[in-house]
Amino acid sequence: MGKTEELYYTSAYISEFDAQVLSCHETKDGKYAVVLDRTAFFPEQGGQSSDTGTLTDEGGKEYKVTHVSIGDEMEHMVSEPIAPGSKVFGVIDWAHRFSNMQQHTGEHIFSGVVNSDFGYNNVGFHLSDNEVTMDYDGVLTKEDIARIEDKVNAAIWENIEVIAEFPDSSKLAEIDYRSKKELEGDVRIVTIPGYDVCACCAPHVARTGEIGFLKVVSLQNYKGGVRVSILCGKRALEYLRNEHEILGSLSGMLTTSADKVLSSVEKAFEENKSLKAELTGAREELMEYELSSIDKDKKDVILIKNQDVDGNLMRKTVNALTARHSGVCGFFAKAGENSCKYIIASGADKKDLKKLQELMKEKFAAKGGGSSAMIQGSISGALVDADAVYDLISTL
Ligand SMILES: [Zn+2]
Repeated sequence: MGKTEELYYTSAYISEFDAQVLSCHETKDGKYAVVLDRTAFFPEQGGQSSDTGTLTDEGGKEYKVTHVSIGDEMEHMVSEPIAPGSKVFGVIDWAHRFSNMQQHTGEHIFSGVVNSDFGYNNVGFHLSDNEVTMDYDGVLTKEDIARIEDKVNAAIWENIEVIAEFPDSSKLAEIDYRSKKELEGDVRIVTIPGYDVCACCAPHVARTGEIGFLKVVSLQNYKGGVRVSILCGKRALEYLRNEHEILGSLSGMLTTSADKVLSSVEKAFEENKSLKAELTGAREELMEYELSSIDKDKKDVILIKNQDVDGNLMRKTVNALTARHSGVCGFFAKAGENSCKYIIASGADKKDLKKLQELMKEKFAAKGGGSSAMIQGSISGALVDADAVYDLISTL
């Protein structure tokens, strides 16, 4: 990395600084990449989102820094050019940065505990404004996670000093530290005594107590190991506040206390299930009654229902019809506001329904498929008229 002095190595708590613009060039997407002689902006790297903030020139003009990237140079992205040689005053979005420091330091303790207690490595880390995830190369159960979470929070409340240093090569050789890859050049070691030693270049809080607390918010199997999502500090508070509000609303809807919401919902599901079964039974009985009133001598029977009917009931009805009537038996029912669905089967006369399907496509622009014994599909627009269907059947 080029000429920029990295002030976040002096202290993670520098949020304002004076600097001089070394260069500025337009990028492919029409933004401007500003290189400074010194910066407190931490660039995007190691799976962590960059700092954002502002640069203000001597004339008082403010430039929003939307992203900071690191390559050959450390580039601050702004929407207008700033002349090389200009003096600027940089301010980083401290709430955003401090939150990143909390999430990141929380991750160190978590991964340190996973490593010492289970021997697993953190093989992937992602810290964005939406989520904080770590991938481990071994499986952790819900119970493991609860124990790790307890241990991490105990470490947070011990308020341990977080030490970041660049040890010389001989000292470095003696340190047993976690690292995602083989490192070259100056290696920065971040130590949380008793919990973690890890090579890392990002800003961290000075003492673990500043993390506040850590909450695991999801655990899923991932590439033979697990992906764990965590939140720390204010982000954890906001997450839990939101969940608490949802629980409060549910509790209000169910007129029960929060601790009884789960059993109330389970009860409501059970009731819903038995009501559905009861309704299906009642509908079947009603349909049976309706079928028994159809003249047995009729060969073809087309039922049209101006309501949505369960597909299973439609099928059962059509089967019952073909057992009594030898011709073509069909059931049309509404499906949503502006379409209908149908199932048609052939009775003992074994009429070719594939042909009927073709006729339905021509006449009603029906969409569907099936065999010569049974077809089904849908028609957009209003419900079809029974006589129009009988007309088609008469040509078979
Ligand atoms: Zn770190």
